[in-house]
Amino acid sequence: MLKNGKKYGVILLFIIFITCLYSFFSLQNAGDTPKSKTGLFLGTVINITIYDELSEHEFENICANIFKCLEEIEDKMSVNIEDSEISKINKNAGIQSVTVSPETFYVVNKGKYYCELSDGAFDITIGPLVNLWGIGSERANLPSKENISATIKHIDYNKVLLDEGNNSIYLMQDNMRLDLGAIAKGYAADVVRDYLIEKNVENAIINLGGNIYALGSRANEDHWNIGIQNPVEPRGAYVGIVHVSNKSVVTSGIYERYFMHEDKRYHHILSPFTGYPVENELASVSIVADQAIDGDGLSTTTFSLGLKNGANLLETIEGVDAIFITKNNEVYITSGLKNNFTLKNSDFTLKKTIIDEEL
Ligand code: FAD
Ligand code: MG
Repeated sequence: MLKNGKKYGVILLFIIFITCLYSFFSLQNAGDTPKSKTGLFLGTVINITIYDELSEHEFENICANIFKCLEEIEDKMSVNIEDSEISKINKNAGIQSVTVSPETFYVVNKGKYYCELSDGAFDITIGPLVNLWGIGSERANLPSKENISATIKHIDYNKVLLDEGNNSIYLMQDNMRLDLGAIAKGYAADVVRDYLIEKNVENAIINLGGNIYALGSRANEDHWNIGIQNPVEPRGAYVGIVHVSNKSVVTSGIYERYFMHEDKRYHHILSPFTGYPVENELASVSIVADQAIDGDGLSTTTFSLGLKNGANLLETIEGVDAIFITKNNEVYITSGLKNNFTLKNSDFTLKKTIIDEEL
């Protein structure tokens, strides 16, 4: 939920969302009769669509519990909420460790794992830099080189001490600041999925602002068709469709959170090394994985690493696939998606699989 006056972009998000929802449903069976509910949590538009036969009362009850659950996650993990657990950790940077809930500990721990896996291209202590740029807020601005150089000194995931026995977290240096923006929505999608399964829901689409979990399948099929956003068109225009069941599809890209300055685009995935938005050949990466927390962690990680290094990293991880879209309209897929991805836009070229290509 947007607390503390953080309502920037909400109306715009709703308009975009309606377009997106329309396009999404147009991919589904005309005969399906889904029940759908939308809310605003985690700074984004959330949509839950259930395709099982449920009474209105059952559906409303399930959605109310899901929204409550999302609010609880936000209350624990948002940097925009003064007394969240993450804010408490940040306020105590260089002072003392803070004991947190098992949920927050789990997400920070996972986040640190992706920091290590990417040698710091992904870094959960990116907070001071996110704050400096303000991308996605009204105060988005191009900081001075001096400010950027001074700020990146506070980024270092090696200085996040995790004590598993006590669920406590300590940032070893003052001015450090955790930011779980690249991973907590994925965690939330998994929590919603687990709740739906507990309630015996078999077929649903969970959409947490582009972090999608596709539960079960559409009517008379064994999969869902999930559209992969065209990075140069408004939401709801697709480059292709990925066919999945019981998988998350999570996308990171340069096309939603950004601002323009002197004809240059400054997007929200920042390099902890340079302090500037990551510059490479990619416009977006979508990760297909069993767990949305891994999809979320890996979408930002592989985006930060770029096509070649990102693809090489994915080759070492089992059960994870990806769709890379480059700025020059090339689409690369990992081998696991060979039979599960259909290109739908002739402006783009499908480059077989990443392994087949000379990168
Ligand atoms: P992803 O690629 O998954 O993540 C990008 C985000 O991760 C960036 O926005 C930044 O926060 C961070 N990041 C940037 N570079 C790196 C890097 N190299 N390594 C690691 N992380 C990086 N937004 C609001 O406008 N208002 C809110 O009140 C608000 N509350 C939120 C509360 C929570 C608990 C969470 C998780 C997010 C919240 N957001 C809020 C953020 C919003 O939802 C973001 O758009 C979202 O987190 C970015 O996700 P993404 O999937 O678009 O991109
Ligand atoms: Mg992510």
